Amino acid sequence: MSFLEILTNPNDNLREKSRLVSDEEIKSKEIQTLIDDMFETMKKANGVGLAAPQVDQRLQIIIVETKEGPQAFINPKIVSRSRHMTIGEEGCLSIPGYYGMVQRHTKVKVRAKNRQGEVVSMICDELPAVIFQHEIDHLDGILFIDRAESLHDITPEIEDRLI
Ligand code: ZN
Repeated sequence: MSFLEILTNPNDNLREKSRLVSDEEIKSKEIQTLIDDMFETMKKANGVGLAAPQVDQRLQIIIVETKEGPQAFINPKIVSRSRHMTIGEEGCLSIPGYYGMVQRHTKVKVRAKNRQGEVVSMICDELPAVIFQHEIDHLDGILFIDRAESLHDITPEIEDRLI
């Protein structure tokens, strides 16, 4: 297992769209190792979410700290979203030094594949809902600073839950 370098803004690679991962690829040693490395990298950085483009891979793979612990989601898609929005503090491992106030859907339903290649779907709210929306944005080359209503200097509390 190895730690991966996390790209920081500005970097053109953070702005590219990530591609789908095939079922065959999911089972490959290369992708399984990447997922293990992403878990370790996120843990080391005290993060609660990480998207493959942040470690310079344009693949639709994200790690999300769910209520059941950190899990990998492949080809994730938000299939429904609450009309209700919540504004909250958000910081990103790829944007050191700042956090922003960002408006997100309060509740989302996500469909994805797990690392075994099985289809999973889940409804989440609170922090996991924010993490999914933030990480899926990364797969589209979108950063939270594109959506933030205001930017502020980072605080230790937010530094412990970067995504
Ligand atoms: Zn991020």
